[in-house]
Amino acid sequence: MSSQGENAEAATGMQANDTTTPTSESRDPAYFHYYAQFVHQQNMLQDNVRTSAYHSAIIVNGPTMFRDKDVLDVGAGSGILSYFAVQAGAKKVYAVEASSMAQKIRKMVDTSETKNPWMKDKIEVISSKLEDAELPQVDTLISEPIGVLLVHERMIESYLLARDRFLKPGGAMVPSAGTIYLAPFTDATLWTQTMSKVRFWEQSNFYGVDFSPLSSEAKDEIFGQPVVGNFDHRILLAPPVSHHVDFQTISVPELQDIVIPFTWKVPFTGLIHGIAGWFDINLGGLILTTAPHAERTHWQQVRFLLKEPVAVNAYQTIKGWMRLTVNTSRSYDVIAELALGEDAQLSDPRTSSAERVADLRLTPAGAGARRGQWALHEQTYMYDQGLDYSKPEFLAMYSPENASTEAGNVLGLTTDPLSGLNAGGVATPGLGWADSGLESLLDPAMEIETGEGAGADMADL
Ligand code: SAH
Repeated sequence: MSSQGENAEAATGMQANDTTTPTSESRDPAYFHYYAQFVHQQNMLQDNVRTSAYHSAIIVNGPTMFRDKDVLDVGAGSGILSYFAVQAGAKKVYAVEASSMAQKIRKMVDTSETKNPWMKDKIEVISSKLEDAELPQVDTLISEPIGVLLVHERMIESYLLARDRFLKPGGAMVPSAGTIYLAPFTDATLWTQTMSKVRFWEQSNFYGVDFSPLSSEAKDEIFGQPVVGNFDHRILLAPPVSHHVDFQTISVPELQDIVIPFTWKVPFTGLIHGIAGWFDINLGGLILTTAPHAERTHWQQVRFLLKEPVAVNAYQTIKGWMRLTVNTSRSYDVIAELALGEDAQLSDPRTSSAERVADLRLTPAGAGARRGQWALHEQTYMYDQGLDYSKPEFLAMYSPENASTEAGNVLGLTTDPLSGLNAGGVATPGLGWADSGLESLLDPAMEIETGEGAGADMADL
């Protein structure tokens, strides 16, 4: 799915104390209008890391999950996963698509006799929201319901609903799981660029007008926008924590309110400017990762900037949590709290209030405590931030004497800073097999294609 970036309505407040779960139906017209356009389907199709991962996963798992099976494609878009399922031997594929792209799939089906005879009579197009569809039970679900930081767009909820309503017991799900990763990062340039937007509102004489009464709210809003873009993995100050989401077992309410606790041991002296996030998904044993050291995808990575950086000394521990709660803008409100030290006192993520940390901040023990609040749908885009090797941000990370870890490389990768990402033997490519065994099923002649820069088209969102 796309890193859908259309402008949302006015920011919603935090939902922490609401008893009712916010729905996102009001966003449907804009959302499905977006996916009705060829250009956005094409953007996803041309993300070679994504499309080739799905293709490989479906073909390799063909004998067990697709051959002679009934398959449901949740949010079929251009129909690409349905076509792959037919190629893998599916008996019948139900392609459910809510946007008017459904008519384009239908045209593909109607012209299949001459253009794609191999898919003739295999695909039934259901032009409807999954939520409103009536379907028989199927053996396998396929879908690409993934947004920025895995959960943006709230489409996984529809995928889980498809599981609960239409998947036979023991049926297969592709993808079967996703994992969110969070790590602290340093990036003085990004922080300064963001702060310079706030500075505008600090002016006391703009054509004679003092705008400073608005500066604090401007800061909240500007720092509340997650920064979507690729970055150099060497800006990470500690290895990431992970949060696993099992699509086969998680309930919709569990997905709507996610708490990710973290403890990072920082091996460098430096400034934490915020929290970086990315994800991977499991496609029938094939891991598609969107990590900063891997091949780029159109999802890119996301960064949550802190209004005030935290200074850490090498070997210090930083603890905290991030809470993501669904909102009416097809996305999530995000809050995070972090504090320095093994014994840091953290508030309860489920009940905490902003005042709690403000108070803590006034005590000596709270000097290293921070809190941030972001709206995952209010994304701002930053291209190639951190990939400019004339200003490597990780140079502001200082290794302690006799340290074994090379500064700026907590992932333990070997890269050549002058020749760019993925050069000189990066250990982890965009794709990898989770379990051994499947690999050998892959036709050695079939190359797993990976491509760079697939996200470039997202600039106009
Ligand atoms: N499967 C395609 C498209 C993925 S994008 C591919 O992999 O390229 C997600 C698609 O799901 C969009 O076309 C969107 O319109 C559709 N979609 C999202 N939520 C849906 C829902 N609840 N019911 C039906 N279609 C949905």
